[in-house]
Amino acid sequence: MSKFVFVTGGVSSSLGKGLTASSLGRLLKCRGLKVTMCKLDPYINVDPGTMNPGEHGEVFVTEDGGETDLDLGHYERFIDESLNRNSNTTTGSIYSTVISKERRGDYLGKTVQVIPHVTDEIKGRVMRLAGEEVDVVIVEIGGTVGDIEIVPYVEAIRQFRRDVGRQNVCYVHLTLVPYLAPSGEQKTKPTQHSVTELRSRGIQPDVIVCRSDKDISDALKRKISLLCDVPIDAVISAIDAESIYEIPLVLHEEGLDAVVCGILGLDPDAHPIALGDWERLVHRVRTAERTVRIGVVGKYVNLPDAYLSVVEALRHAGFHHGVQVQLEWIDAEMVPDLVPSERLSELDGIVIPGGFGERGIEGMVTGARYAREHAIPCLGLCLGLQVMVVEAARHLAHLEGANSREFDSRTPHPVIDLMPDQAGVVDKGGTMRLGAYPAMLAPGSQVEAIYGASAVTERHRHRYEVNSRYRARLEAAGLRCSGTSPDDRLVEFIELPGHPYWIGTQAHPEFKSRPDRPHPLFRALVGAALERAEGREPRLIDIGDLDSVA
Ligand code: GLN
Repeated sequence: MSKFVFVTGGVSSSLGKGLTASSLGRLLKCRGLKVTMCKLDPYINVDPGTMNPGEHGEVFVTEDGGETDLDLGHYERFIDESLNRNSNTTTGSIYSTVISKERRGDYLGKTVQVIPHVTDEIKGRVMRLAGEEVDVVIVEIGGTVGDIEIVPYVEAIRQFRRDVGRQNVCYVHLTLVPYLAPSGEQKTKPTQHSVTELRSRGIQPDVIVCRSDKDISDALKRKISLLCDVPIDAVISAIDAESIYEIPLVLHEEGLDAVVCGILGLDPDAHPIALGDWERLVHRVRTAERTVRIGVVGKYVNLPDAYLSVVEALRHAGFHHGVQVQLEWIDAEMVPDLVPSERLSELDGIVIPGGFGERGIEGMVTGARYAREHAIPCLGLCLGLQVMVVEAARHLAHLEGANSREFDSRTPHPVIDLMPDQAGVVDKGGTMRLGAYPAMLAPGSQVEAIYGASAVTERHRHRYEVNSRYRARLEAAGLRCSGTSPDDRLVEFIELPGHPYWIGTQAHPEFKSRPDRPHPLFRALVGAALERAEGREPRLIDIGDLDSVA
């Protein structure tokens, strides 16, 4: 039977509930337990796919094409398990199901209410993740206790313990212990209030994780233990860590995983922890001395969370090479003004990430061109590939006015367009290509060498594609379509023979990168950037012999 850990948060948003939950997941996994995770989000959107990444951060895409909260990215990176669309539930999706059931007559003439109908649906969503192959399901509840939207979730998880038995559930509550400089003290009152709020909903937390920028003394822990009625061992101090990948070690040191195991009746001695690999990873993070500067040319650069998985994938690649990746956030709209300055020439590499809408596109095209002409390693992700194709069409194939139909419906050369499906139908309804799709890589191509494979799968989230009518002209101008769908209809990868690294992918490889298993495209990008940073002859390193194209 699976056990369940519910992680709630109090006092303030952005305390790092997702990272705490993910770190606990990693620790339990390091104890040999099989872990899965999910997020319950109290907003009314059916999924985050329709939200503005500039406000809500990145939309994380799962293998099965779920458009989910960015915390699922942390979960996958920390527990190294692929999740699916069932791993993220929102109030919108709960209500949508409840209302369809009501319309179908499933509730047999009853009055449909938050309790029990909504709460039952929430519990059902958690329950479907349990099973023989899962020891622990970790459930993060979005938002903060006290929020109006969170009430049905708190009620549902309260009932859950009664449904599955006390020994199968652990409530972890994350709070903030602020340090007040004028009085020189750390304050527990916000924690007390937050726990009081949780209790008023019928939940007594088993564990309190206290976020703080300073260590929490034993005396303070005793106070929290007394006032919030949890054993002192279950008051965990979570001080700010330099890297998010240190958090599991900090929490383990504080005994979080042992306490949670104890509450769930899982004997910690029967599940000894093996943290060696993770410790080695953190050591590599800490000791990296060299630096490469990677420019991210995008339109949501004011909220770096909009590119969270891209940033993490670059960091992972840095861990592999033993370098710090210093990110330069470059507002795409500003790029044309930057060309004469040193801002671009000083970059060791460029990433053009995904995005929707016209704003910033011309700047991205300029950035792609600058990278091509100055031999700066450049990786285009989804929209990034499309922009590189537009750039090559305009300046290598001399197709004046070439563009994506998304940005210019009257372009004379729609080199990026909506493509008909296998039945020949162009769906203008705007359905997206979502989730994992296979691609075949051309023999002898850079991408084949980088992946070390001739067939790969990557996750997608886009509507537009390289227009197959232009493929021959683009290839004649020097662009190589180095990866395609197995039926050869869709272009999945492009590259530029002779350039150290000018590669675009129609997919989002960033979603599959792991701290201890960096994604090959990012690993090779940072490798090429390192060559440039160290003033070596530009050539791809660490990925086989590519001298013929370098
Ligand atoms: N806007 C582009 C499309 O829909 C690219 C999307 C993306 O980068 N995820 O095809």
